[in-house]
Amino acid sequence: ESKSIIADEKIRTICTYCGVGCNLEVAVKDEKVRFIQAPWDSKVNSGHLCLKGRFAFSFYNHPDRIRTPFIKKNGVFVEANWDEAYDFIASELNRIIKKNDPDHIAGISSARCPNEENYLMQKFMRAVIGTNNIDNCARVCHSPTALGMQRTFGTGAATNSIDDIKHTDCILVFGANPTDAHPVTGAKIKQAAMKDTTLIVIDPRKTELARYAHYHLQLKPGTNVALMNLFFYYIIKEDLIDTSFIEQRTEGFEEFKQHILSQNIDELESITGVDRNLVHEAAIAYASAKNAMSFHGLGATENSQGTSTVMLIANLAMITGNIGLPGVSVNPLRGQNNVQGAADMGCQPNQGAGYLDVTNDEIHALYEDFYGAKLPKHIGYNIPQMYEAALQDKLKAMWIIGENVVQTDSNSQMVIRALSKLELLVVQELFMTETARLATVILPAASFLEKEGTFTNGERRVQRVNRVVNPLSGTRPDGQIITEIMQRMGYPQPDYSAQNVLNEIAQIVPFFKGITWQNLGKNGLQWPVADGGGDTPTLHEENFKRGKGAFYKQTYKETSELQEHSKDYPFIITTNRGLEHYNSGAMTRRTPNEQIVTEDVLLIHPDDAKEYSINNGDMVCVESPRGKTDIKARISTAVKKGILSTTFHFSEVMINNLTSDVCDSDTQCPEYKVVAARIR
Ligand code: SF4
Repeated sequence: ESKSIIADEKIRTICTYCGVGCNLEVAVKDEKVRFIQAPWDSKVNSGHLCLKGRFAFSFYNHPDRIRTPFIKKNGVFVEANWDEAYDFIASELNRIIKKNDPDHIAGISSARCPNEENYLMQKFMRAVIGTNNIDNCARVCHSPTALGMQRTFGTGAATNSIDDIKHTDCILVFGANPTDAHPVTGAKIKQAAMKDTTLIVIDPRKTELARYAHYHLQLKPGTNVALMNLFFYYIIKEDLIDTSFIEQRTEGFEEFKQHILSQNIDELESITGVDRNLVHEAAIAYASAKNAMSFHGLGATENSQGTSTVMLIANLAMITGNIGLPGVSVNPLRGQNNVQGAADMGCQPNQGAGYLDVTNDEIHALYEDFYGAKLPKHIGYNIPQMYEAALQDKLKAMWIIGENVVQTDSNSQMVIRALSKLELLVVQELFMTETARLATVILPAASFLEKEGTFTNGERRVQRVNRVVNPLSGTRPDGQIITEIMQRMGYPQPDYSAQNVLNEIAQIVPFFKGITWQNLGKNGLQWPVADGGGDTPTLHEENFKRGKGAFYKQTYKETSELQEHSKDYPFIITTNRGLEHYNSGAMTRRTPNEQIVTEDVLLIHPDDAKEYSINNGDMVCVESPRGKTDIKARISTAVKKGILSTTFHFSEVMINNLTSDVCDSDTQCPEYKVVAARIR
């Protein structure tokens, strides 16, 4: 009886925030979400949620939701109906294609949207527009993971399940702050460390997890490669390598070993700023553990040597035989709920759905046959290249789904200049974000609670997203919008149904072959899923996808950001995420979480604060070679002297006005983690 007063029904779906992919049980009454609980029988979160997943849902029917399409006329947004908006977009896209070519158009898909919508977006760009200019936000976070792990293992995804924490003896957390950014996984790591699992944290900041760590290697930002080389040095010197694994399953070890042994360890110690004895002890702890897992985050990837760092993390597992078994792993902690899925579905300029190479003749023919359209064969622009092309008038139109790139991408003023040069900017959004304000056309999209599909979490688990309430009047699911534009531009695409699109994906993406809407059940399946539904909790058990695992030697190189600017900008600012808010705050700031954390603050070491006469709560002007902003100071020993740290959730601060155009040289992932700065 009490249930009927509170809720008509409880519907299971998946959290929209981080890549942990927690299951939610959403109580609904009178078409409104009343509360959210965690189902006990969920394999991912078994009765546990963080305060984002559990409480930060009221954005979905917030009065700020955009409820009608808008077209900008003479600099002012004017309400339009859907037909007018679609006709305007279709005619503008056709005009740009005719006047220039399809490569003057680009799209950014959304790692917040289900697989089916991402799949359709890349299909739209490739089969209807005729360009490979499609990317997703993994570019600016985990693209080095995808490439680094593809090079070393052949597959750019987590090797194991989060549940393997129960079976491991040692956990290495590299450049990640999971108690804030992936809280349910962070709690599991913390619990393991409080029992008998050794915890090693490599992070420039004293994170919450670092307080539970047996070894905290508090390195200078941007020196990951130097630290890893020192780590390897001691493992090899102590003869803690797994010789039989190396001989049977890997290649390139001898050259790698000689390179490591030739390193100058005095120099490595001084570059990293970490006591060599501590590195020595941590290396022994990791390499002598029976089973060891590693988790890495954006501290590993968002650096000028991001891909090199990921390859070394993969090589660390290989050199110690910590791969292909339960209780071992190289597990990237994926940021957005479906960032794994957006890449799996082909939202990247070089690989289509299923990571198949768009430049390969055979693959190209396969896609052309499947989509019934002529497709481009050359690699398209990634996100930083899109901005560069727009600035050079080589790009005339962009279509952005659910990403507030002005606030989240590096060097915000450059992003604004690039987007402002476009002839057409289509933004599909829930709210009037900083990016939406620059749009030519805004299309009001539906949130995760209002749509159906699948999300793939950071452990490759494809899970069903069920519709909890109907889309707010005036809004449409992103998949429906893309489908209707495809139809309007003459491509024969059936009316949108997430389940039908999932069936189509299973036909073209090899590792989705055995997935059906029905067999995903309550707990989903971890890809690759074979015909008949057998899934794969552990990758690389017998072989690596590329055959043998590859060792790659790496040499530390100081980022050009510090080489060029550290003289005039003596501090390093490094950006990160907080527990209460999510990315640009567009969603969480429209929930009660806004009352818990109301601003970004700048962490500054007490010695630096004293030198600059800064008290707690003082406003500080932080400046980089790109721009400046004012932010409130918080004096903290979580950072070392000379290091500043802040989140990027608040547009009032807009910390990405400071971040640079320096990127990982292999993937163009921006270097958010090392920014030269000065303070006043
Ligand atoms: Fe959502 Fe991540 Fe929190 Fe789970 S840990 S509830 S997926 S934000």
